[in-house]
Amino acid sequence: MGIAKRYVRERARVDEVCQHEGRNPDEVLLLAVSKTVDVEGARDAYRAGARTFGENRPDELVRKAAALPDAHWHFIGNIQSRRIPDIVAHADLIHSLYQARHAHKIDEAAGKMGKVQDVLIEVNVSGEESKSGVAPEEALSLVQEAAALPHLRVRGLMTMAPQGDLRAARASFEGLKSLHEQIKAALPADQAISFDQISAGMSEDWKEAVACGSTIVRIGRAIFSEEFE
Ligand SMILES: *Cc1c(COP(=O)(O)O)cnc(C)c1O
Repeated sequence: MGIAKRYVRERARVDEVCQHEGRNPDEVLLLAVSKTVDVEGARDAYRAGARTFGENRPDELVRKAAALPDAHWHFIGNIQSRRIPDIVAHADLIHSLYQARHAHKIDEAAGKMGKVQDVLIEVNVSGEESKSGVAPEEALSLVQEAAALPHLRVRGLMTMAPQGDLRAARASFEGLKSLHEQIKAALPADQAISFDQISAGMSEDWKEAVACGSTIVRIGRAIFSEEFE
């Protein structure tokens, strides 16, 4: 089947589920998570229509963004302070911010580049120890601290659901959605208006996420792996 066909198939499925859920397909971005393939694999998806890609390692972000400069690139991985300048130089959106000290370093790097960096706050909704992210009860204060920085714009929240249990995944997507609503309501109007993104759902659970208001589904294997033919 190949990457291009799998991309087209996944985009059609997302559109279909949006229709079924009464959502506008234009409001759900399919982020093509190309972390397991080389530039050629990402290019195959690009030719099939993918325009926004996710990477979880700074080196790969830099390399692939340079090779496919017309695409948009998001950073979805673990943030390390020393790699922040590379991430800020290439990422339109950082999904995985959950530490205040990184918010300040991203603000500093963005300021030097004359950029306002869009970020999402990663929340550990399920509370699993293996997951990164801020605890739900600490999310509002982190959003407020980050949103006060001049070169950061907090666009919303991101979570990773427990794997292998769609009911548990759905519960964490519902938790993320209600947290998003609470935080949006607590923000001043100028910040609330751009707090409009929910990054939730991966290859195996994105349908549940779309049903729970996700605006960005991060799909890797269903596009890039033959396991998903
Ligand atoms: C790898 C990864 C994905 C994609 O996962 P798949 O199960 O391959 O779709 C999504 N989000 C993050 C943060 C990832 O690291």
